[in-house]
This record gives sequence, structure tokens and C-alpha cells, in this order.
Amino acid sequence: MKHRTGSDRNTTRGWARQTQMVRAGSMRSDFDEMSEALFLTSGFAYETAEEAEARFDGRAEGFTYSRQTNPTVAMFEERMAVLEGTDVGRATGTGMAAMTASLLAGLKAGDHVVGARALFGSCRWLLDELLPRYGIETTLVDGRDLAAWKSAVQPNTKVFFLESPANPTLEIIDLRAVADIAHNSGARLVVDNVFATPVLQRPIEQGADIVCYSATKHIDGQGRCLGGIVLCDKKFDEDFLYPYYRHTGCAMSPFNAWVMLKGLETMGLRVHAMCDGAETVAEAMADRIEDVRHPSLSSFAQRELALSQMDRGGTMVVCELPGGRDQAFRFLNALEIVDISNNLGDSRSIATHPWSTTHKALGEAQRLELGITPGLLRLSIGLEDPRDLVADISAALGAAGL
Ligand SMILES: *Cc1c(COP(=O)(O)O)cnc(C)c1O
Repeated sequence: MKHRTGSDRNTTRGWARQTQMVRAGSMRSDFDEMSEALFLTSGFAYETAEEAEARFDGRAEGFTYSRQTNPTVAMFEERMAVLEGTDVGRATGTGMAAMTASLLAGLKAGDHVVGARALFGSCRWLLDELLPRYGIETTLVDGRDLAAWKSAVQPNTKVFFLESPANPTLEIIDLRAVADIAHNSGARLVVDNVFATPVLQRPIEQGADIVCYSATKHIDGQGRCLGGIVLCDKKFDEDFLYPYYRHTGCAMSPFNAWVMLKGLETMGLRVHAMCDGAETVAEAMADRIEDVRHPSLSSFAQRELALSQMDRGGTMVVCELPGGRDQAFRFLNALEIVDISNNLGDSRSIATHPWSTTHKALGEAQRLELGITPGLLRLSIGLEDPRDLVADISAALGAAGL
């Protein structure tokens, strides 16, 4: 591989973020291709037995097996690490593989994790079911309550885990304050930054130690491939993450990494256009119904905190229809443009009813405790013309009797 400017961190770290999203991490092969090459290969060959030995020892640079690293995947990892401001990125097959790796890699039986209770459904399952099964204690707190984080700390607390804004209620957690509490307790702060995207929020600058993404969402951004990534410092990678990653086999496919690289080139433009749409839709909906949530709205309870740690309010709009599940279903069934689906961050707008789909596994009491009511709807605003989205959503609200 020719190491042009894209793989020289002294250069790429100095670039503006938009330039990093287009070029950081790029490497060229001897064919001088413009677009990143797709190395769809499971393994690599060596000229000599000595070279094989040297690469396995780490004395010689080069690739050995795509479960560990692959040139296309390495370009995606490097682009994300530069963008996020970490030493290392490890790309995984899905977002959940990234979340699981960020937790399991560095924990053992007898450790303790404090998590915000408002988490993506599968992240909640990790904390509620999987970790306790292996002797790792977990405590869930209201992430907005700083005193609750403090009082949940135990001598064996190793990790704080949270997501902000939270899925699907858009609760905002004060990243800087929670990072300080974690560090005073000797714990690492892991942030699931999917809702905010790397474009709008930089948790590492606010004190987080590890940032995870589902690349399936805004990074691909066009609803094609699953993927995830864990971003961390060199020490956590060497001590915990890389051994876990290479031996448990959670690697990303080179094909998916190639799609993600192409996605990153347009992510900044897409996310800002989606924010424009989300702001327009939220304002239009707020004229019709009482409970509409988007951090750009003056009625948003945590507006000041949200906009102090995010550049903009994000691509998701949440609302609660007063008529509960029946009204929510009538609204969904009347949509003509916006699709009923459960993905998010796609260029196509998507409406989700968390009560009956993404968060159903939580049980009724837990859903209500999180503010996930039968009337709650989550809208992921895509790249359609916002005027068409407002017309579609307004008509559907009318059809639902609002
Ligand atoms: C989608 C999502 C995940 C899981 O990602 P997958 O790619 O679907 O495995 C984790 N956290 C949040 C906040 C998500 O939205």
C-alpha cells in the first residue's frame, strides 16, 4: 500500500472534520486507484516463511488474516479514529457487536457497571441479562440525575455506560459531569453516540474514554449494511479490546467497510440536511400536537444542555399522541411517504412505534418507567424535501383525528 497523506496522522489530525470524513485513512495500492479499494480477501500471503514469522511477531508491518485486520477495514477504522480523536478504532459486524465488545472486553466476574436506564433495547439486555449471567453486577440509574450516578458507585465499579440523546425518548445526559464522576470513581465512561452522530457530538472532548457506534445508522446512512465500531485509546486496545476482538471474531466485512467509507464521505452533508428537515418537521408538528420533542424547539426541556454538547438537535423527532396506541397506529397507517420501519439515520424517513416493536421486550412497567408510552412515536428524518414530509405527516395527523 502506498501511504499517501490520508494515512499520515500528523496531516489528517490538522484537517477540518469535513475533509477528514472524505479523506482521512485513505491508502492507495500500486494501481493508484482514486476510490478506496475493496480487499475482499480472508487471508494474506507471505514471500517467505521468515516474513510470515515476522508479521506474526509484529516485527514486520502487514496483514495476516481479515478476522484481525484488513486493508479496507483498516481505512474505515483509521478514518473514524481521526474523526473521533482516538488512537484506535476496531470495526465490528454490527453496532451491537461494538457495544458488547466495549463492555465484555474489559470486564470480568466481580466487576460492576453503572448504566443509564434509557438505553437502546439490546444494550439494556446486555446490562440486564448478559453481564449478570457472567458475574458482572449492573446498576441502572436515571442518567439525568447526577446524584444517582454518584450513589450507584461501588468499590468494584469499572464502567459507566450511557447514550445521549437516548433512544427513543431523547433524554439528554450531561457528558462532562458524568465523565468526571466516572473518573473520580476510577471507572471508564463508554458512550453509545449513535443518535448524536460523529458530526454533531464529540464525547471524547467531553471526557468519555470509549465511544461506540452502530455504523448501520448515519455512517452508512442509506439503509444498506450493518456495522459498528469501538473507538478508544491505545492502552485499552492493547490490554483489552484487540485480544477480545481478534479471538472472538466480531470483525466487519471488508465489503461493509467499503460501503461505510463511501458513507462517511457524505455523512456531514447528510446529517446537516436531515437536521434541517427534523427542525422543520418538529416545528410543524408542534403547531398541531402538544408533546413534540426535538432539541431545537424552545419547548424542549433539556434544550440548553443538549445544545451545549451537540452542534445541533439531531435527526430524530419524537412525539406522543394523546390517543395512545390506536391513534399512533392510525397515524402510521396513514403515512404515504414516511415508511413504518425500525431503522434510523437512513436517507428515507422512518416512523417507529417503540412500544410495540423496538422496546417491546422490556415489559410494560419498564417501558412506562422509561417514558415509552403506547402513544410515543419516533421519527427518523431523512433526505426527502422537508415540505413533502410536513405534508405527509400533517395529513397522517389529520387521519388520526388530530
Ligand atoms: C441501532 C442501535 C444500536 C445497535 O446497532 P446495530 O447495528 O443494529 O447492531 C445500538 N445503539 C443504538 C442507540 C442504536 O440506535
